[in-house]
Amino acid sequence: MRATTVNVHLLTTAILLLTACGSEEPREQPPAAKVTEPAVAEAREIADAVYRNGRIYTVNEAQLWAEAVAIKDGKLLVVGSNADVDATAGESTRVVELGGKFVMPGIVDMHAHPFTGVDMGIGGVNLTAPGDPEAILADIRQFVAEHPDRDVFLGGNWNIGGMFVNDSPDKKVLDEIAPDVPVFLLSQSGHSAWVNSKALELAGVDDTVDNVGSYIFDRYEGTNEPSGTVRDNGMVLIMNALHYLAPEDFAPFLEMEIERYSRYGVTAIQPAEGSITWLLGAALLEQEGRLDVRLFPALDWLTSQLRALDDEESLAFIDDWKSYQTELIRPHYVKIFGDGGADSHTVLMKEPFADSPGNVGSMFRPFEDYREAILHYHSKGITVHVHVLGDGTAARIIDIFEEAEATYPDSEGVLHLSHNQSTDHEDLDRLAALKKATASFSPMLAVGHPQMDLFLKTPLGEERHQQVFPVKAAIEKGITVGFGSDFPSSLVPEPNSFFYMEGWVTRQMPGTDEYGTVNADQAIGVDQAIRGFTLGGAEALGAGYSDQFGSIEAGKSADLIVLDRNLLEIPVTEIHATKVERTVFRGKVVFDRVEAIEALDVVEIQITNADLDNAVDAADLDLLVEAEFGGGGRNSIGIDHTVGAGARSAPDEVNGAFASLSGQGYRFARPARSVYWKNTGSTYWIQWTVKDDAAVLWAYDPEPGKAVQVLRVKEK
Ligand SMILES: [Zn+2]
Repeated sequence: MRATTVNVHLLTTAILLLTACGSEEPREQPPAAKVTEPAVAEAREIADAVYRNGRIYTVNEAQLWAEAVAIKDGKLLVVGSNADVDATAGESTRVVELGGKFVMPGIVDMHAHPFTGVDMGIGGVNLTAPGDPEAILADIRQFVAEHPDRDVFLGGNWNIGGMFVNDSPDKKVLDEIAPDVPVFLLSQSGHSAWVNSKALELAGVDDTVDNVGSYIFDRYEGTNEPSGTVRDNGMVLIMNALHYLAPEDFAPFLEMEIERYSRYGVTAIQPAEGSITWLLGAALLEQEGRLDVRLFPALDWLTSQLRALDDEESLAFIDDWKSYQTELIRPHYVKIFGDGGADSHTVLMKEPFADSPGNVGSMFRPFEDYREAILHYHSKGITVHVHVLGDGTAARIIDIFEEAEATYPDSEGVLHLSHNQSTDHEDLDRLAALKKATASFSPMLAVGHPQMDLFLKTPLGEERHQQVFPVKAAIEKGITVGFGSDFPSSLVPEPNSFFYMEGWVTRQMPGTDEYGTVNADQAIGVDQAIRGFTLGGAEALGAGYSDQFGSIEAGKSADLIVLDRNLLEIPVTEIHATKVERTVFRGKVVFDRVEAIEALDVVEIQITNADLDNAVDAADLDLLVEAEFGGGGRNSIGIDHTVGAGARSAPDEVNGAFASLSGQGYRFARPARSVYWKNTGSTYWIQWTVKDDAAVLWAYDPEPGKAVQVLRVKEK
């Protein structure tokens, strides 16, 4: 993708130079204009690019549909008919025929974790089989062996839920692999980490340090010696002591992570997190013209457990946000955790939990801490982005919002309430009455799914579970609403907003109806789902950003995406499988599916039922495929069930599931049903269930001469 990006960039530069230096009159200008108008001031504006013959859904209510757009200097020059944009075309204009394709604004992801995604994913040890201790150790061993110059090993994704005694893995196991370099492995829930002795030593955590409040270190039984599992704010102490990757080391990983977002049409992200290293790494990319997204980081306040600064430094860093501002990075936000999660009873509820009689839980910190912080930031015009799940927490935070708005009526800051799992209708009314309040919802927990039931139905009980995420009510009450993927806290292993759009519309797990619906009364229309992931997000960010992007309107940034289907015409249960064909960010093509596919050295192996001698029932057949990659570069492997139609789905998608590998480590979360894989050394295993008569296994390794070799295919 780098090569493509550079080419487009050069092309754009060339066009700009031509436009600037060209002394010729625009050819199509009527002669009369030459005589009566001064040529310099009135020269016809020539577009850099035009996109014609599309079904362009603008999300601009004044002109909801258009046929074509013209782009100049990264902005939309004209939005209208083919004839309108043709009037802006000159010799240098790149003309793209859309052939009736559906186009919409770029996705604005209001709540995601691209930075953690780097540390715990492609930049660190990503545990491929989170519930298998042997596989976890194999992953760590391999990563350590392949990265001898790292001065810290970050990573994670291990499974809480019985794999280790008391969910408390032992430091000694890690010490054997990495005795001299600190190791920090985050659990799937994000509230625990497994560390080695070196990490504890650097943080000064030994048997003289007691647990205080949420600074928790597990101990060997009968002693005070820390055993290697740290909880909640205990993680902050460890992270403080570890060297993060330097910004220049972090930048290339961030670029890979952002590419994942570009593939799903995301052109603006609010990272619900922000540290100095991350911001400087992103700024390096921007300086080199390689940051293909806008970032609105909400900087880590005292409740962020993965922050790399201590309390005093964190507060100074947030107040100093202007030093880190660039054209594309706007960090005038602060992330505050109001509470934790319902499953761990670390949220404040108005009524007791269903599985813990008499217990209403609590917020993360004393009310007065939140009050002081929110008033402080609002007085300075810094937007607070507050993580709120419990209805009790929401009510208390809205109390503070009311006071903040009354005290500082002219503040430019937004009072943002994020997630809103159980915020009730009364409190939504109070939120709606505020001038500066906005809200976002993250859909992962809003659909039926056994794992989500554990998180929500068990602690809340059936009735309250069917009241979660009142999205429709929030919109109807006039609250400005945006949506966030919360990736990589996500049901799908990609920042795929289309998956979640479908969830908002059906309130059931996309791709299946077997898990039932969750609060179906609050289902919204496809148009509202699109709006929340585009213009709604830009509005919720505040600061007038919705005048700059979020819809397809003349004068706004040319952030738009071309899709393989018309979201407003297809059955709603097909929205999740939407593929982005092209992502345009500030007029530049930052993702092109066709080019991405054609650039690959693809090896295909066709497996049909005829090949499977003993196949009894193809619908239930499990296969194991062992494949070896050449190493280096970015590899992917997957299966395409559409064989026979002559179509090859994009290499990164498997019935909506995704698998990718990189030379640096890789990420794969188990999709709903079809694929599972694990690696052993440089060999990758893939296993799936054949659903149709035939399937194609594909795999690619983009390095020439290092094509993937599939070693064997066998029945399980
Ligand atoms: Zn989050």
